[in-house]
Amino acid sequence: MNKYDYLIVGSGLFGASFAYRATKAGKKCFVIDKRPQLGGNVYCENVEGINVHKYGAHIFHTSNKRVWDFVNSIVEFNRYTNSPLANYKGQLYNLPFNMNTFYQMWGVVTPEQAQTKIDEQKVEAIAALNGREPANLEEQALTLVGKDIFRKLIKEYTEKQWGRDCKELPAFIIKRLPVRMVYDNNYFNDKYQGIPIGGYNKLIEGLLAGVERKTSVDFFAEYRNNWKKIADKLVYTGAIDEYFDYRLGKLDWRTVSFKTYVENVPNFQGNAVVNYTSHDQPYTRIIEHKHFEMFGQSVYDCPKTVISEEYSTEYKNGMEPYYPVNDDRNNSLAEEYRKLAAVEKDVLFGGRLAQYRYFDMAPIIEQVLNLRNI
Ligand SMILES: Cc1cc2nc3c(=O)[nH]c(=O)nc-3n(C[C@H](O)[C@H](O)[C@H](O)COP(=O)(O)OP(=O)(O)OC[C@H]3O[C@@H](n4cnc5c(N)ncnc54)[C@H](O)[C@@H]3O)c2cc1C
Repeated sequence: MNKYDYLIVGSGLFGASFAYRATKAGKKCFVIDKRPQLGGNVYCENVEGINVHKYGAHIFHTSNKRVWDFVNSIVEFNRYTNSPLANYKGQLYNLPFNMNTFYQMWGVVTPEQAQTKIDEQKVEAIAALNGREPANLEEQALTLVGKDIFRKLIKEYTEKQWGRDCKELPAFIIKRLPVRMVYDNNYFNDKYQGIPIGGYNKLIEGLLAGVERKTSVDFFAEYRNNWKKIADKLVYTGAIDEYFDYRLGKLDWRTVSFKTYVENVPNFQGNAVVNYTSHDQPYTRIIEHKHFEMFGQSVYDCPKTVISEEYSTEYKNGMEPYYPVNDDRNNSLAEEYRKLAAVEKDVLFGGRLAQYRYFDMAPIIEQVLNLRNI
């Protein structure tokens, strides 16, 4: 008889939610993580009384009531609503593109005036193409929203993200650029959104309550060859190519990097997320972490603030693998690895790294809630 029903590699939302469900079902789990802390990418570090999203800003959003009720049964969520701003050379614009943005851009007040302005600029861009299809991202964006929005809010921001001129980027990167003809700065269209009250670590602690766990343990260093001696089954949420010793080749990733500072003021930018859409700043955005969880007077009750500048960075070995690269080579390589994974006995491959797919948090939890026979 093995000591554990499941050895779970990775304490991110997939591993932690799995452990929660399995424990509820009477199974014994052991969770390991190679990082020194639990939580995967939603881990927050407490700095000056503020939960700092160490692996990038995380905002929970979903329209799935089952997922929302599940996470709220572990920890209550606050009323944070993502409403980012764009700063273009000191001028501020609301995002996503909506009536507030159009008022700030052109002084138009009614939806009809805004639509007329956008249509004028779109017609100009389409005429410039002389009947041909947009050949690059710049032409594509111009035909979708016109020159003013493109120039101030898209062009340089996109160039910082991709490290290339918009004329050199393929048109398909931008398929749609939704514009909202209402005064609504809420970034997400989902029914529910928020941040766990007390931070994401509370969510992870709640999911892992009563579960044995060990951090700073790399599966490949310690359990690769002997996990079957301690557990009946393996739940693996690490990188899929690493599991198979990169035998078909290495998958590529995109990453971002952060420079985090403590500022000696209670309120640095008045909003959690401000995008910097010109080349004047090398970073793409600044996150002010306290605004995810502190509202009204509590912002000032905490005398300092923590900000993170976010930089688009080329991925190199040893960096955090954040986003899969969806080009032909990587998509087909990932598919080959998934075929190997599908026939691996007693191993469940779950989460973003093991599936080599980008998932928001809610779909990750939904996947775990949908699993049968845990
Ligand atoms: C920059 C960024 C911002 C994001 N923002 C949002 C957002 O605002 N809203 C949203 O809904 N989603 C967001 N996401 C997505 C969210 O991070 C994922 O949905 C979520 O982290 C997936 O959980 P996971 O358990 O699959 O992976 P992870 O959280 O990455 O957990 C995997 C864990 O496995 C561990 N591990 C890997 N290999 C080994 C090994 N060999 N041995 C031991 N442990 C190992 C890792 O250390 C890690 O802790 C964002 C993602 C990124 C990259």
